[in-house]
Amino acid sequence: MNPPLPDPSRSNPAPYGTAGVVAYRVGAVRDAFGLQLGPSLILVDVGSRTILDILEIDTPPKDYPTIDYSNSVVWPAMVNAHTHLDLCACDPQPYPGSFTAWLSQVLASRGAVKAAQVTQAVAYGLDLSVNAGVGYMGDIAHTPEACMARWRFEKATGTRIVKVGLFEITGRGSRERWACQEMDRFIDENTPHIPVIGLQPHAPYSTGLGVYKHAVALANTHGLHLSTHLAETEEEIEFTRDGSGPLADLLRSVRGDDADIRATGLDPIQVLAGPLAQAHWLLAHCNYVTDENIAFLAKCGASVAYCPMAHAYFHHKPHRYRDMLDAGVNVCLGTDSIVCAPPDSQQPLSILDEMRLLYRRDGTPPDTLLQMATLHGLRALGLSEDFARIAPGCPAQLASAQFNADLDTDPFEQVLRSDVPVSPI
Ligand SMILES: [Zn+2]
Repeated sequence: MNPPLPDPSRSNPAPYGTAGVVAYRVGAVRDAFGLQLGPSLILVDVGSRTILDILEIDTPPKDYPTIDYSNSVVWPAMVNAHTHLDLCACDPQPYPGSFTAWLSQVLASRGAVKAAQVTQAVAYGLDLSVNAGVGYMGDIAHTPEACMARWRFEKATGTRIVKVGLFEITGRGSRERWACQEMDRFIDENTPHIPVIGLQPHAPYSTGLGVYKHAVALANTHGLHLSTHLAETEEEIEFTRDGSGPLADLLRSVRGDDADIRATGLDPIQVLAGPLAQAHWLLAHCNYVTDENIAFLAKCGASVAYCPMAHAYFHHKPHRYRDMLDAGVNVCLGTDSIVCAPPDSQQPLSILDEMRLLYRRDGTPPDTLLQMATLHGLRALGLSEDFARIAPGCPAQLASAQFNADLDTDPFEQVLRSDVPVSPI
């Protein structure tokens, strides 16, 4: 429900004083709670970057310095719920024809990246994201340093972005014990000083059930976020069900008998049923799910990070995100890594481009897309829903894009139809 709007007929909108207040003159306003305004003024306290008021008037009062966005529609900053900023050290790569071949390629590229380059890569990815109107992100980091790189970025640039750093770990067989110890060490060194961190056991084919169980225990004790890649490929189903296929071959080639591969007769979501039922997980992809899987995810209160452009890059079968939404699963949007981005992308890591794909391909309603891109992502990352609201008292962390006021079409729909760039406010 929307908070009551201020009275637009009020002649003197200055109960907060004018010092440190800036007025944004905007062409239209949208938010994830159904707010739809035409030309308006958004008054922002510069110090706290909080919205003070929204006035449905076109003429800025003289009292405030005014910044003109009158050709733009404005909406809350978007959430990239699943990305790998440390892979910004790599370039976009063409799809090599199979997921396993792609995985081998990425592992080789990552192995060649030095620690100092990782920090730079994360800063570069944050910069791309901020400039694409993203305000919040679930960033998977392969090292503790990459997980924490947000603070260095903010210090250097003064740009605010809320980054939930999820420390990724892999480990099967005899390496399960090591993986659990690494998670313990990460938590000892980083909590409780840093509130927005979490753990990501990589995926059911690379990481043993014991690691998942330990991650749940740690998350429930320390109030941490939990994420994993799940049901991403048909090869993953073959791996967990039959203990065979290209992923089994890849693991055996790297780890030999120690990979601890066995047929379970279960699909990946069934394999992780215990840990999934014991915490709120953010599940990346879920590209291959059954009706029973969807009902189970809804029951567990899981969130699914759907990455439409990455999904298309891998030529997966159609994603069931609309069935998941209908079943009550909290589906949000992610970009995955820059490696899967189109090489000619004007704004890599743009959540708006992910929305555009779904709008144009599937005709998904703009309101649904705006919710997936803001509110659902915030819920998935355990962040305040106020970040998806444009109202007094809410953060002035906004995105904007130009539209044509002479057209009858809804301004936000115009943005989804066009390729105009998105900018942060
Ligand atoms: Zn991923």
